[in-house]
Parts: sequence; structure tokens; C-alpha cells
Amino acid sequence: MWLNIKSFDEYKENFEESKKDRLKFWDHEAGTFYWRKRWDKTQSGSFEDANIKWFEGGKLNITENALDRHLNTIGNKTAFIFEPNHPDSFRRTITYKQLHEDVCRFSNVLESKGVEKGDRVVIYMAMTPELVIAALACARIGAVHSIVFAGFSAQSLSERINDCEAKMLITNDGLRRGDKHVPLKDISDEALESSPSIESVIVCQRTNREIDWKEGRDEWWHNLIRNASREHEAVEMDAEDPLFILYTSGSTGKPKGVVHTCGGYMVYTSYSFRQVFQVGADDIYWCTADAGWITGHSYIIYGPLFNGATGIIFEGTPTYPDAGRLWEVVEKYEVTHFYTAPTAIRALMSYDIDYVKKYDLSSLKVLGTVGEPINEEAWHWYDEHIGGGECPIVDTWWQTETGGIMISPLAGITPTKPGFATLPLPGVFPVLMDEDGNEIEGNDVSGNLCIKHPWPSIARTVYGDHDRYIQTYLSTYKGYYFTGDGCRRDDDGYYRITGRVDDVLNVSGHRLGTAEIENALDEHKKVVETAVVGYPHDIKGQGVFAFMICDEEIKDPEAFKKELNDLVTKIISPIAKPDKIQIVAGLPKTRSGKIMRRILRKIAANDLDNLGDTSTLLDPSVVEDIKKGTAY
Ligand code: ATP
Ligand code: MG
Repeated sequence: MWLNIKSFDEYKENFEESKKDRLKFWDHEAGTFYWRKRWDKTQSGSFEDANIKWFEGGKLNITENALDRHLNTIGNKTAFIFEPNHPDSFRRTITYKQLHEDVCRFSNVLESKGVEKGDRVVIYMAMTPELVIAALACARIGAVHSIVFAGFSAQSLSERINDCEAKMLITNDGLRRGDKHVPLKDISDEALESSPSIESVIVCQRTNREIDWKEGRDEWWHNLIRNASREHEAVEMDAEDPLFILYTSGSTGKPKGVVHTCGGYMVYTSYSFRQVFQVGADDIYWCTADAGWITGHSYIIYGPLFNGATGIIFEGTPTYPDAGRLWEVVEKYEVTHFYTAPTAIRALMSYDIDYVKKYDLSSLKVLGTVGEPINEEAWHWYDEHIGGGECPIVDTWWQTETGGIMISPLAGITPTKPGFATLPLPGVFPVLMDEDGNEIEGNDVSGNLCIKHPWPSIARTVYGDHDRYIQTYLSTYKGYYFTGDGCRRDDDGYYRITGRVDDVLNVSGHRLGTAEIENALDEHKKVVETAVVGYPHDIKGQGVFAFMICDEEIKDPEAFKKELNDLVTKIISPIAKPDKIQIVAGLPKTRSGKIMRRILRKIAANDLDNLGDTSTLLDPSVVEDIKKGTAY
């Protein structure tokens, strides 16, 4: 077995080993960590009994593996570079040793405020080092953190606090995102009017704007840490104690409070980070996600820290002060590994290429994407203009519920293919299922993506609703974990996500994934981004409805539609041609940047009164505009 896979042959060898004896494989991996007591049983439970446990009997504290373990070796290495919203604001670096001290100090603060093992703490903060310190301090004292993206409304914040019955809220006075100011404390105050479980609020200063203060409840971060000790004895946790609760993006319905546990999550995020990104000792790794999403949890905070990497915490946005910001940061810190989302790539593609050309990107070695299928045009743009044709792209497929990357190339090792997440990591066994619940064998096939055996970082439950956990993931196919995604396995055995199963179109008896049609439409030079949904069609059963953002005015929609039809006919088949197109200014997206097709489906079907849960929608006005628009 290879702890560090370095060649495609080693990958295949590891995969086979993991297949032969997967428990031995994970034992080997888990053995690389510091455990206060070794586990008794590698794994128990199954997808049938919905009671999966890993490394039972093992005792640990995850922060000892993220921080303490490194102090004697790389204590003075930079753990994080903080890049603020505005490029001229104060930036700083934090070493492992300093991060350890800060986490210890804040752990002492939390304990002094009466937070105990098992208590839930909601973190609603700007993307600053203090957010990471707060989360790690929770982990150190055994409290369960729930990070809520600091773009959510008071109502969404309140709902999440209430759902997990949090005792404490940690926030900022406010934050700046691009040229916008977000008054986090005001929003928190409003949320807390309907969230009685919160006993105390810690406010970290960021904007220095005036805020309301509730004596007895609110306290300043800087006052609390002033006299707190920089030493703290980490609380011993069981491998299966909960580490955090994180709410999903809400692309397909009401967000689920996904629960991850200490031992398995640690082992899998560390493992997947190491194998997928191949970050070396002197590399600078930058994941642009927000810590409020699973990508931020696993691949800004935990995975990189376990591996002693240097990461960037970025407070800003890709287009502030201008569309060259990300590349400016890459040049400035000589970033070697860059991990972002297709939505950001598509947005930046629509700007003048000079925003990219201005900067020296030659430090880059590896590029990554996550969150949605990446269309081929965006893949090629990323490859050519950002990677200079020389950086492997890791298209990482995974979910909040999987905890870590499941299907992805290993950087520089797995031959890549545009649009394909390629192959599973060793220890992960994806299968495609047909409508009748049978595994589809062989290659050049499509089906619903399931995972066959438990892996260490599988979500253990939906907080407070184990039935929903069972219903959503473990009931559709007995004995399998159902991902909710459709997938194709090509001739080479490579996996390509074709879209959400709920979004699959059935046109004249042919099942079509949204990602395939969108991918074809996106090839048109005037098209920036597309969302395809099905709608009731008298003859075909379902018709293809394409909503699209274009970067120039379309003067003759009928001629444009014909060009699109020709394109789809050429790339996929005449069956997939859009029956209707509508040009829109924006698409409904979640706050993590994903297209919410379920809302478009309702609009396409003219079912406007019942749009479902829209709480995670970034900009509701987009929906109003689309309702008013015309389709051709
Ligand atoms: P909800 O579960 O609330 O509907 P969500 O599924 O968007 O929200 P996440 O866990 O953030 O919440 O997203 C996981 C989903 O994102 C996957 O199921 C898949 O549909 C999509 N996804 C993630 N990475 C990729 C990728 N590399 N290629 C294709 N799809 C991806
Ligand atoms: Mg999901």
C-alpha cells in the first residue's frame, strides 16, 4: 500500500488493495494519525441498518492532529496567509505555532463561557483567520461547530440555530464583501429575536462600525482573549463523537443538517487532500471556497492542516476591485495549487482576457474544480488561460454528505479528460444503478450514481432527523448510498456526472442529463451560462427548456435558436435540441453558486405559485425577472 501515490500504476495498485481488504486499507491510513487510544473496531454498521461507525473505541482530538502534532517539526511554517477583501488592507501570515496558541486561547475562552463537550456553537463570520480559530477551538473542547455562510439572511441564520439548538453564536460586527458592507451583528441581533437557545454572543471586530449591544449576552472577542492562557489541554473525544453540523446548499430542497464525526472525517479528509492535490512542502495552496461550505471545511481548514500545508484564507470576491483579483493573488503569493468552482470560472471567462494576461501565473502547478459539472468550454479556458496548458485539472466530485472528495483525478497522476471527474479514490466504490435497482455492469453506460461500501467520512445522520437521512440516501437502493446524481461511465471506465437525478429529462423516451445539454449549449460563443430543465410536452412527454445568459444582445432569437439546435444536434443528438429558449440576465443560484434547476422547472411548467424552499437563493429578484421574460 502506498501512503503517497506517485504514479498511475501505484494508484491502480492501491485501488486493488483497497478492494481486496478495505478495512485493512483504512486501518493503514488511520494509523498515520495521533490517537490517544487506538480504535477497537475499524468499521461497524451498514447501509441497511443506517448505523455506520468508524474507528470505534478510538480516542483522539482532531486539533492535536491538525496543530499540536506539527509543532516540533513545522511550528514556524506558515499555516495560513490571510488576504483581505481589499488588496490594500492589512494582510498577515500565521504560523502553525501561532495558530495553535490562538486556538488554545480561544478554547479557554469558550470553556470560560460555559461551552461544554457536545454543545452546538454557530459561527457566522467573515472569511478571516478568526473563523478558522473559532471552529478549531470548538473542536478542541469537543463542542460541535456549525458554520453558517455569512451571506445568509437573519431568517436563514435563525432557522439553522434553532435546528441545531445552538448555545453560542460567534460573529463579527460586520464584513465587507467586494464593495458591499454586510452588517453581521445587526443580522445576528435580528436572528436571535427568534432563536432563544443562544445564551451568549462573541463578537469579533472587523469593520468598526457602530452596532447595538446587549449587555450580559454580547462580548468582544478581543476582550475575552486578552487574559486567556495560550495553553489548553485538548478534550479527549470518541472517534464517533460529532465534530460539526453543516447545512447543505439547498439545490434540491430544504437544506439538510449533515453531521460529521471526529475520527472518520479526519482520516478521510487528510487522505483525500494528500492524494488528490499532491501538495509539496513548499507549495502554496489556495481553495477559494467559503468556510461556510463543505469545501471550506474539508479543504481550507481540516485537510490542509493535517498535512501541514500552507493555505490562503481569502476574504474577497473574484471580481473586486476587478475581474483580475484572483490572478493578482496567485501572482502575489506564487500560488501553486488553485481550487475553485465552475461558476467562478464561467463568470471570469466572460470578462476581457487581459484581466488574466496582466498577471504572471507561472507558479501554478495544479488546478481544481468542485461544486457542479464543469462544461468543456470552461475546462479548456481554465486549462489554457490559467494553467498555460501545463497544469493538471482535478475535477473533484463529492458532496457535503461524503465529507471528502470521492471521484477525481489525482493531480499529475490520473490522465484527465475535460468534463470527467475520472476515477474513484482507492477505498471508494462507485456503482451505476438502473431503474429497477440493479447494478449496471461494464463501460459506456449511464445510471444513478451510488456508492457501495461505507467510507470513513460518510455523514452519520441528518441532525435531529435520522429518518430523513435514511429516506434521502439509504432507501432508494437497499444496501447502497444513493448520491442523487446521474452519471455516465465511458469506454475507459471514467466517470462523468450528468446532473441531478431529479433534473433528468425524459424526452420521447430518452433520458437526458442536464449537464450534457448545457455543456453543448455553452459551446456557442455568445452563451455564457445555461440551465436546462424539462417541461410537460404533449408529444414528447418532456420538452427541453434552456434558460441562458448571453454576453451580447440577441437580435434575431429564431436564428439564434437554430444555431443552438445545430450545435446540440452535432454534439449530442437531435433529440436533445431545446424546444424553448429564454435569454435571461441571471440564473437562480444558491449562495454557494449552484444553479437551482428545481425553480426553473416550476417556471417552465408555469407553476409559479409553488416554488419550494427558496431560503438559500442568492438573489430572489432573478426569479422575478425570469417569470416576466419571454421564451422562444
Ligand atoms: P442539497 O443537497 O441541499 O440539494 P447540494 O447538493 O448542492 O445541495 P452540496 O453537498 O454542496 O449540496 O453539493 C453536492 C453536489 O454538487 C453533488 O451531489 C453534485 O450534484 C454536485 N457536484 C459537486 N462536485 C461536482 C463535480 N466535480 N462535478 C459534478 N457535480 C458536482
Ligand atoms: Mg445534495
